[in-house]
Amino acid sequence: MSDEVTYDGASGVPVITGPAAESAGAPQEGMGCHAKGEMEAAARKAGAAEVLDRYAEDYPKGPHDQPQSMCPAFGSLRVGLRMKRVATVLSGSACCVYGLTFVSHFYGARRSVGYVPFNSETLVTGKLFEDIRESVHEMADPARFDAIVVTNLCVPTASGVPLRLLPKEINGVRIVGIDVPGFGIPTHAEAKDVLAGAMLNYARKEAEAGPVAAPEGGVEDRPTLTLLGEMFPADPMMIGAMLAPMGLAAGPVVPCREWRELYAALDCGAVAAIHPFYTAAIREFEAAGRPVLGSAPVGHDGTAAWLAGIGDAFGLSPDKVATAQNAFLPAIREAFDKAPVKGRITLSGYEGSELLVARLLIESGAEVPYVGTACPKTPWSAADAEWLAARGVTVKFRASLEDDCAAMEALEPDLAIGTTPVVQKAKERGTPSLYFTNLISARPLMGPAGAGSLAEVVNAAMGNKGRMDRMRDFFEGVGTGDSAGVWEGDPNIREDFRATNLKKLEKQKRAAKAQEMI
Ligand code: SF4
Repeated sequence: MSDEVTYDGASGVPVITGPAAESAGAPQEGMGCHAKGEMEAAARKAGAAEVLDRYAEDYPKGPHDQPQSMCPAFGSLRVGLRMKRVATVLSGSACCVYGLTFVSHFYGARRSVGYVPFNSETLVTGKLFEDIRESVHEMADPARFDAIVVTNLCVPTASGVPLRLLPKEINGVRIVGIDVPGFGIPTHAEAKDVLAGAMLNYARKEAEAGPVAAPEGGVEDRPTLTLLGEMFPADPMMIGAMLAPMGLAAGPVVPCREWRELYAALDCGAVAAIHPFYTAAIREFEAAGRPVLGSAPVGHDGTAAWLAGIGDAFGLSPDKVATAQNAFLPAIREAFDKAPVKGRITLSGYEGSELLVARLLIESGAEVPYVGTACPKTPWSAADAEWLAARGVTVKFRASLEDDCAAMEALEPDLAIGTTPVVQKAKERGTPSLYFTNLISARPLMGPAGAGSLAEVVNAAMGNKGRMDRMRDFFEGVGTGDSAGVWEGDPNIREDFRATNLKKLEKQKRAAKAQEMI
């Protein structure tokens, strides 16, 4: 007799067998993030190997190659939705599109998200591509749009829906097709780069082919510095103020807000990779012959080094650089002195600005033993990583949620800044915590405005330790994980079911391993 623990007799019912379906294993509507392996293999077979290889090179994976946060396509979707006169169309499973649309509107998108639905038949017969083509033809109205962005999510990418075969332009409306599968793009940050890179590529070719539209606000007389990365709105202005004594101006911020800004962004003297993960966008700037600088003007040391780097990139005299440094560095020092931060802080996030924030906190006086970022290591964050390492900080690129939680638990900080699950875990332990995205990214970081801007929120959170302890004590004993909540009796925990299930999972794992060897 088997010692397997079962709920009912369903396991004994004979399985109906039949001829194997030809489409078995093929991507289908409703396949989700968990089917990453199958979908990647299918995509490679379906002709997407080249694009996946490029993504693998641009966005190196490991240890966390599976999105641990939101669907990565949210990054590119958001970039498209924030642009004027740009329409966004998704092609993917209805559940994915529902989630992405929901999150977009939660974050205040004021534009509709287009969707071309499909089913197994339209997917395998190629009709889905015809439907997408028909919908872009219908939408391509130059009075309404400069461009239409069509995005293949996981299932259409795995099925090889060939967006590259869409017309490049219809009635003067540009058509940009991109594949943004969760199995090729590790984070939503890097998905922003996929679209920014594709648009810059398009705009660069247009500019090479002939005259293009001037920016709405006119052409800047001074040489400009294009800024790469979504920032707090005051940051580009602060950067502009710091560039002015050197006779330079801040150019557009990429990802741009309208199509013609792309031309102005390419028409710069140099590019500042404020966020370091825009690999595809940087490739376009380099193809246009623009020098690219890493790091950002954060804190005293960061601003001094960054201004010197700008001087080198534009070939300015040391006097000009010194004028800018003398105008701003004392104010930065003063701002730090006025708003000190005392305490131990662990920091993690997926925005790409984690290293910059850590620099600011350290210069404010905080002890920061650990910084985790979901983004990969790139040449554009090397100076920040070096500066932090010299101060004893452990910097973990491509940090997984497990890395971030383990650091928070082991280092017992006075404050944990992190993503939602890290903050949740910290709260359970009674550790004060702040969401990186909502509370830290939504503040100025650059120059004198950034120095000291974090102190208020960080110190207020650390001052809440007593409150967090009282809350933890209050909730003590209500259970955790699957036994959390209010129970009439004791939670019905079946250790025997768990042990059996664990054995099954281990068996599956061993079988998968053996399969790999074959
Ligand atoms: S599109 Fe996003 S939500 Fe849908 S399966 Fe892919 S990663 Fe998951």
